[in-house]
Amino acid sequence: MNTAQNRDYDVLVVGGGPTGLLLAGDVAAAGLRVALLEKRTEESELTRAFAVHARTLEELDARGVADELLGTGARLTSLSLFGAVRVDMSKLPSRFPELLITPQYQTERVLLGRALDAGATLLRGAEVTALRQDADAVEVDAVVDGGTVTLRAAYAVGSDGVRSTVRRLLGVDYPGESAISSVMLADVQLDTEPEDVLTVGASRQGFAFMAPYGDGWYRVIAWDHAEQLPDSAPVDFEAMSRLVTSVLGKDYGLRDPRWTSRFHSDERQATSYRVGRVFLAGDAAHCHSPAGGQGMNTGLQDAANLSWKLVAAVRGWAAPGLLDSYQAERHPVGAHVLRTSGGLLRLSIGQSAPLRLARGLAKALGSHLAPLARRGGMEVSGISVSYREQAPAGSHRLVGDRAADIDLTSADGDKAPTRLYEALREGRFVLVGPAGSADADGSAEFPDDWCDRVVTATAPSLTSEWVLVRPDGYVAWAADNPTPAQVRAGLTAWLGN
Ligand SMILES: Cc1cc2nc3c(=O)[nH]c(=O)nc-3n(C[C@H](O)[C@H](O)[C@H](O)COP(=O)(O)OP(=O)(O)OC[C@H]3O[C@@H](n4cnc5c(N)ncnc54)[C@H](O)[C@@H]3O)c2cc1C
Repeated sequence: MNTAQNRDYDVLVVGGGPTGLLLAGDVAAAGLRVALLEKRTEESELTRAFAVHARTLEELDARGVADELLGTGARLTSLSLFGAVRVDMSKLPSRFPELLITPQYQTERVLLGRALDAGATLLRGAEVTALRQDADAVEVDAVVDGGTVTLRAAYAVGSDGVRSTVRRLLGVDYPGESAISSVMLADVQLDTEPEDVLTVGASRQGFAFMAPYGDGWYRVIAWDHAEQLPDSAPVDFEAMSRLVTSVLGKDYGLRDPRWTSRFHSDERQATSYRVGRVFLAGDAAHCHSPAGGQGMNTGLQDAANLSWKLVAAVRGWAAPGLLDSYQAERHPVGAHVLRTSGGLLRLSIGQSAPLRLARGLAKALGSHLAPLARRGGMEVSGISVSYREQAPAGSHRLVGDRAADIDLTSADGDKAPTRLYEALREGRFVLVGPAGSADADGSAEFPDDWCDRVVTATAPSLTSEWVLVRPDGYVAWAADNPTPAQVRAGLTAWLGN
């Protein structure tokens, strides 16, 4: 049994899926004491998500692990939605104008390695069963090796998936409805290798999807409109193969299934992402149809939004309302993903006359849908996510927007970052001004305490703007040609005195 169990922590993370792993890695990298409690005793071999979108790759780049993950999969520049419209990723205004196809366990492996390297304490086989909180701390009880241990921390995060125990213990509602049921899964070998990395098709009969694991095995997902069975019903592999052949219009020779299963998917969202010192993130906060492959991606971005806010709160310099901004910023994003992924799913499987017409139109219009396909790419990739609506009235036009990666020029020393997302790897804010205006930040007068909160740099692409970028890559503050006093005021609002 781990000796650290009864020690105090700064943050407890319940659930070691992708969301919890990213979050634990972030707070550990910032030097906080974090325990990650995971009820499984082994690493998960179950793969659900295959798609890693551009914004997630940017967030991973800001943690120095994007290249490692990119090396595990195949990179696509377009994605076919419901077998008709191709969403174009190649024009995304991102360093990663693509979609990475890699099994979820690879993403988890990379994030686990990072969290452990950063010093997170991982408690495997620890199932959280109870939670209490008061004005000073939160305590959780976890069953480990048949006994109960209690851990205490300043904050806790429930990233324990769709059936979240933390959410239940908090008494937070998770209203919604079933999106789709009786979806069949199988891991198989194929006689004929598909032409595309992702093979997707839909017809009146149902839909089918095939993605590679990269080691010769394929994940096949299929749904038969005429056969609605409970999750517990076994999969008839021969019938599933016939459906896949019919929907895709080609027989790929599915064989040797090593695993089959049936699942259903709900569309639900927690009514509150925060109760006192406890937060919900990832599937614990929202779940939706897998259409568009956004579940894991949205959870990872929840984690990126929350982690630095927890660090600021534990260190004592969080601006008033900063912790509440997690719900204010991420709840609308979750609601939007619910709507769009649900819309996609209904368009893909719906049997009503208007839906069939819409699908037929989409097919008929084909390449004429280019603008829609581009907009779809911005949406589904997470690149268009912005917190502008939550910015205070009168804020600069850039505030709340995602900060694009830009080249940096003036940071000192050979090891200085050469672009913004390298600078973000410090886990701090980055203050960037136009090249040649290095004095305007008044950096000589920065309080010593700010050194662990902000990095300063200049960028040739900026002409008049000074931009303060948050650790999660969104613009906190910006101004055109500010005076040193204005820059200082902008920094003070976010970094404290
Ligand atoms: C078929 C399918 C395909 C999908 N494809 C995609 C895709 O392509 N792209 C995408 O982005 N998303 C996809 N998703 C969704 C994606 O898999 C989930 O959104 C993602 O796994 C959520 O991550 P999470 O960390 O929030 O939760 P989870 O991955 O569910 O992790 C929760 C963890 O908490 C642990 N836990 C639970 N209860 C406790 C407890 N009481 N104490 C301690 N530990 C606990 C669990 O063991 C688990 O490890 C797909 C889902 C399905 C079903």
